[in-house]
Amino acid sequence: MPKVLKIAVPVPLRRTFDYLPPLSRAIEELQPGVRVEVPFGRGRKIGVLVDIAETSDVEVERLKTALSVLDEAPLLSPEDLKLLAWASRYYHHAIGETLASAFSVLLRRGESTAPEARRRLHLANLGHLEADTAIKRAPRQTALLRLLRETPEGLPSEALARRDGDFRSAAEALVRKGLALWQETPANSWIGASAPSAAPLRLNADQAMAVSAVTDSLENYRAFLLEGVTGSGKTEVYLRLAQEVLSRGRQVMVLLPEISLTPQLEARFRARISAPIAVFHSGLADGERRRAWLGLQRGEAAILLGTRSAVFTPMKSPGLIILDEEHDASFKQQDGFRFSARDVAVKRASLLGIPVLLGSATPSLESLHNARRGRYRRLRLTSRAGGAAEPVFRLLDIRGQRMIEGISSRLAAEIAETLARREQALLFVNRRGFAPTLICHGCGWVAQCRRCDANLVIHIADRQLCCHHCGYERALPTACLACGDSELYPLGLGTERVEAALAAFFPEARIARLDRDSTRRKGQLQRLLDDIHGSRIDILIGTQMLAKGHHFPGVTLVGIVDVDAGLYSTDFRAGERTAQLIMQVAGRAGREQRPGAVVLQTRHPEHPLLQTLIHKGYSHFARACVAEREAAALPPFSYQGLWRAEAGDPEAPRRFLTELAERASRMSAPAIQVLGPAPAPLARRAGRFRWQLLVQSAKRAALHAMIDRLLDVIPEIEEHRKIRWSIDIDPVDLY
Ligand code: ADP
Ligand code: ZN
Ligand code: ZN
Repeated sequence: MPKVLKIAVPVPLRRTFDYLPPLSRAIEELQPGVRVEVPFGRGRKIGVLVDIAETSDVEVERLKTALSVLDEAPLLSPEDLKLLAWASRYYHHAIGETLASAFSVLLRRGESTAPEARRRLHLANLGHLEADTAIKRAPRQTALLRLLRETPEGLPSEALARRDGDFRSAAEALVRKGLALWQETPANSWIGASAPSAAPLRLNADQAMAVSAVTDSLENYRAFLLEGVTGSGKTEVYLRLAQEVLSRGRQVMVLLPEISLTPQLEARFRARISAPIAVFHSGLADGERRRAWLGLQRGEAAILLGTRSAVFTPMKSPGLIILDEEHDASFKQQDGFRFSARDVAVKRASLLGIPVLLGSATPSLESLHNARRGRYRRLRLTSRAGGAAEPVFRLLDIRGQRMIEGISSRLAAEIAETLARREQALLFVNRRGFAPTLICHGCGWVAQCRRCDANLVIHIADRQLCCHHCGYERALPTACLACGDSELYPLGLGTERVEAALAAFFPEARIARLDRDSTRRKGQLQRLLDDIHGSRIDILIGTQMLAKGHHFPGVTLVGIVDVDAGLYSTDFRAGERTAQLIMQVAGRAGREQRPGAVVLQTRHPEHPLLQTLIHKGYSHFARACVAEREAAALPPFSYQGLWRAEAGDPEAPRRFLTELAERASRMSAPAIQVLGPAPAPLARRAGRFRWQLLVQSAKRAALHAMIDRLLDVIPEIEEHRKIRWSIDIDPVDLY
């Protein structure tokens, strides 16, 4: 029996596939982590070698032979492979697709890892000798050989490409004849790079304590939770630690919820760290992405700055993982491979034996709970660095108050005072567009999406009605589509509406709106941020986007137009989310010398969430919230898996999940609760009916074992062909 290659092929099946080694490569040369092209079905696929086995369950005559091995050396290290295998098991996601997610697009498609620009052609030993006879009849090869003899530092491959004529194939011919060879730029070329432009700050006592705690643990796995309000100097701690790790010749991974929204953070890293930084942002072209990926994999780039999908990027010598704003829900991927980058980062650090630092002004309850259990070490920055004052919170009771477009006269007065002092005001509104509903005064008709169970949102700027769930758009009607009445009213508030109202209140003020609509085009966000920093804007209105990492030093008043929506949601995480959002938005105010005020408009000023948060702070609130979760046996005191099913047929998803729930009950696992099936909160989206089934247990292993068994029986359930299903482990959004 010849040896067998176990290949993870990117298909949605939870298994590897066996192949015989390709004829072109000796099996002894092969190591797990190389890409292999294999015949699959009627086509070919690029898989990853995960193991070499002595035997196969398939008879040897029936095994296909792999076509070729694409890489000389593994692209994934044994630790990378271990991490991906763990993620595949833990998230119950197909191994081939899980591994594929670690590669950049071009590499996934099988493109070469040799980025032309980094290769140089050198003269081989043989080329020094009188070997011209071998190439006498090839004038380009002769010319190239002569050139190589004159350039001991070698010729960059792009220099070859610039020459007229086909010098690339001449080069390849010389390489084949052993007269020349390609060499890569050496790794770790960044060590000892030039001095940074900005000097480090003197750390305060809390920061120094945090830096030394992590530094002491640089050779071992340890998870740290760095808790400090916005402005307390967390980023300074990251920078200091990054420098320490780089000076030891190792790399740093920094993960953020959003990169395009936080250009300031990237700028600070660039100002302070002279070593090459590989940034993964959504605007990268495929080729640039591959270059960044390879730079990290080979150890040529020192720092990775990226969002959740970068967490699997292979690195040559990682020494520290930092994850900023660890509470942010965007670290959880919501479709396809539904992993939590935070949890993967912690696992990766533990496999690598390096520390991981999770930072936040408003840590998630999961992380606080882990800190309490001693799994994470909690580090706290207790005051604002640089001496800025904490903002003052005020609840504005708007019951019975006269409101104009959602703004009470008291809030308007506060804005007026802020403007009079020539300071900036920031208003948070949780929805973009003008208003979330268009209603007819004549008959009560409401504009709804035809394909979703949702109302269409009015967008005045484009004179359109838009569905925020499926993207459907239509022109704003001038008369009711049901009765023809022309008295149509907007209900509720969006950023555009608040913007229009404030423009009427304060005709002199310069007002700007920051949301996904106003920043869609390239450069718009940067221009807006520049205008705010350059004090060319007096009032800024925005959505969640405002809460993410921006520093607005001139803002001294933050108004939260409507906090009530978050207080009475059915999602058990709504309270935590609302509290985090309030604190994050508040963190934008009063950054430098001027103290800030945060004003919350509410009809429920006595609400315990608001009272605790405002009078006692986030930590207190979080402690109360954790106690509630414990009493209700909700995460982090239990573990969840959410099955989702959807189809164009309204009945099939329900029938499928009902059957799945019955199978689950028959497995009689007493420690596991099976809840549902129930329609999803958005029961119809883009014409598809959506249902869900929640499985929950205090015993993680038991839960995962049951999910595995359910996955095995799915093919036996008749409806599985008619629906699309998925399993979401540790769901953060029950949608
Ligand atoms: P965070 O990341 O927690 O929001 P930052 O690191 O951005 O906090 O720090 C907030 C502000 O305080 C920044 O302007 C930063 O330059 C300044 N700062 C941070 N640490 C110090 C320090 N030790 N001494 C003086 N200023 C500091
Ligand atoms: Zn009508
Ligand atoms: Zn829709």
